[in-house]
Amino acid sequence: MSGSEPARDAVDLVVVGAGAAGLATAIFAARAASGLRMVCLDGARHIGAKILVSGGSRCNVTNRRVTERDFWGGSSRAVRNVLRAFSAEDAAIFFNDLGVALHEEEGGKLFPDTNRSRTVLDALLRELRRLGVELRSGERVTDVDRGPDGLAVVTPHARYRTRCVVLATGGRSLPKSGSDGNGYELAARLGHGYVDTTPALAPLVLAGGRHAALSGVSHDVRLTVRVAGGATIHLDGALLWTHFGASGPVVLNASRHWHRARLDGRAVDVLVNLFPGDTFESLEAWFGAQALARPRAHVATVLATRLPAAVATTWTREAGLAEQPLAHLTRQSRRSLIHALLSSSLDVRDSRGYTVAEATAGGIPLDDVDPSTMASRSCDGVYLVGEMLDVDGRLGGFNFQWAWSSAWVAGHAIARALNGVARRAAGDVAPADAGATGRSAAGE
Ligand SMILES: Cc1cc2nc3c(=O)[nH]c(=O)nc-3n(C[C@H](O)[C@H](O)[C@H](O)COP(=O)(O)OP(=O)(O)OC[C@H]3O[C@@H](n4cnc5c(N)ncnc54)[C@H](O)[C@@H]3O)c2cc1C
Repeated sequence: MSGSEPARDAVDLVVVGAGAAGLATAIFAARAASGLRMVCLDGARHIGAKILVSGGSRCNVTNRRVTERDFWGGSSRAVRNVLRAFSAEDAAIFFNDLGVALHEEEGGKLFPDTNRSRTVLDALLRELRRLGVELRSGERVTDVDRGPDGLAVVTPHARYRTRCVVLATGGRSLPKSGSDGNGYELAARLGHGYVDTTPALAPLVLAGGRHAALSGVSHDVRLTVRVAGGATIHLDGALLWTHFGASGPVVLNASRHWHRARLDGRAVDVLVNLFPGDTFESLEAWFGAQALARPRAHVATVLATRLPAAVATTWTREAGLAEQPLAHLTRQSRRSLIHALLSSSLDVRDSRGYTVAEATAGGIPLDDVDPSTMASRSCDGVYLVGEMLDVDGRLGGFNFQWAWSSAWVAGHAIARALNGVARRAAGDVAPADAGATGRSAAGE
């Protein structure tokens, strides 16, 4: 091809973005509609960077139990229908069939037995090759045109005429992987809306000196995100104190709520409870029993039997009770210490942003697609899948499950549409959407 004249290529399907959702959509479509020409384009030089870094390079592929309640963003009903069309169990079978056996860990998380995300990526790429889907890296799509002769996908090197386009360009998280949000522009030019995005599953930056002193310490807490004039969200799990603030599963899960509140211009408090299993009364009773049993012991020493020592010291110091023996604790100071243990404010300044966020909240409104096919409601022949949609899951394999489920729904709908076209072209008259490929998310 010459530098000035882009090549023209006619294909049946172009998938824009070869991340988890794009690769899986191509696989499901090619499995269900053989003999068609399908191309997967990705702007990145190396395919699958995000899959490789996922789950601490072990790829938490899905979760034993996934429901719409594990997600935020667009309509729960739509999310449920998509998840039911291709469940977590279906995902486990799919990977098992690809030679990737999974095992379960804490919280129902499923990982490959090899504990290497490379196994997951290689299996997807192998299957793509087996099915004859072309995969082109370093092909950043700059436009999707709809003209009188159908759809065209434009890159600096080529112009693909095609019947179907899948937009699977991801969100804004980990932009160096190639997911920098440019896909929202492509979708906007095709008539789609946009829900403002924020980082999700990101560590939080805190003010004050407490976190620096505790850096490296991890323990179970309950976080309460209290949004002025809005919802109050309670989240349980491990918090890891760091030199910049806080991380760990419970903090990552809280970050999207903090960001969404700020985006809406609402005041938001994040409160930490160091004794999520206790009440004010149970802690008072415990302190009372300890005072009788060990009157000379310091408050911090006693607290350190139930909390990491550094955390116990920090909270007693902040309450002005360092070096205070239990026997000298007044009723008033005991009660204010208990209040602080059960609810202390984290002075959140920001999150660490998209650079380290594991997901993106917001994106293309879920209402812009038909959840029974993932087809665009504003542009015929276009489908949207994965993280670019306004759906974000909590930590634990849920975001990948959204990628697999939405890919399955789109892949099968595309196969039905393309099969219908191919059969009609061959004179074999069949209803365009005969559902020959099995389930759809419609009405489930
Ligand atoms: C550090 C980290 C760890 C994670 N760990 C887990 C985990 O263990 N479990 C889990 O469930 N989720 C995890 N996630 C989230 C999960 O990786 C994502 O939700 C999922 O990969 C989204 O898949 P996607 O295909 O929709 O988007 P992406 O994976 O972001 O893929 C989009 C692709 O589109 C390409 N692209 C973008 N624009 C264009 C364009 N114009 N032309 C061509 N190509 C383009 C990009 O290069 C990219 O390859 C993690 C995320 C991160 C950042």
